[in-house]
Amino acid sequence: MATAKRKHIVAGNWKMNKSYDEGRDLVKSIVENLQNTDVMVILCPPFIHLYNAHAKTNDMANLFIGAQNCHQEVSGAYTGEVSAEMVKSTGASFVILGHSERRAYYNETDELIGQKVKAALANGLQPIFCCGELLEVREAGKHEKLVEEQVKKALFDLDEVDIKKVVIAYEPVWAIGTGKTASPEQAQEMHHHIRQLVDKKYGKAVAEGMSILYGGSVKPANAKEIFAQPDVDGGLIGGASLKSADFLAIVDSF
Ligand code: PEP
Repeated sequence: MATAKRKHIVAGNWKMNKSYDEGRDLVKSIVENLQNTDVMVILCPPFIHLYNAHAKTNDMANLFIGAQNCHQEVSGAYTGEVSAEMVKSTGASFVILGHSERRAYYNETDELIGQKVKAALANGLQPIFCCGELLEVREAGKHEKLVEEQVKKALFDLDEVDIKKVVIAYEPVWAIGTGKTASPEQAQEMHHHIRQLVDKKYGKAVAEGMSILYGGSVKPANAKEIFAQPDVDGGLIGGASLKSADFLAIVDSF
């Protein structure tokens, strides 16, 4: 089990799913069925749900709301975009940044993601920063180097106060939405590598305090084994976060 110093986190990334009514029902079901737990639970629905999700969970000590993206600029002529300040004004506390789908479909680079991380922090949002390699990168044995670059480029010019607010999610791209999960050993190896990078740059206390989540086809059937790894502090859950029973079973895996 991960050390008691770190927060255990299970975050649900709904992606582009759920109409307003469906989202309201899912939040309701999670609120009604969430057991008393020490795990920090974060729901990351599409923007349209943020305000209601926060309003319905505001009085729950362990349930927080996050967005799936924000823009790097403060405001202005960016049609269709949502700023970090606007996300924060809904009551959200977190924002997923650097998800592989945004890197792939919206050409988000490490540099841009770094700018978004700073915009989020400047507006009181905690980034859930995603990193992870494509299958061919792993097969070429370059996965540690690639993730190292992603982490360094987007995060390592933050100061010590800000880096402590960041949650890292390691999500091997070949495991997202594919049903293929990294083995617990593969997850542990990369999480340990990331923690060592943070240690080298910011010192042991920051590294040991940072929650590093695993994401990629986590389900009730495999969560326990993955969460039992010493450097895995929880999960970022896609598909299985869309059903209250599955998502809560994953939360219960701790
Ligand atoms: C994700 O999109 O962050 C994710 C981990 O998806 P899934 O759980 O569906 O693989």
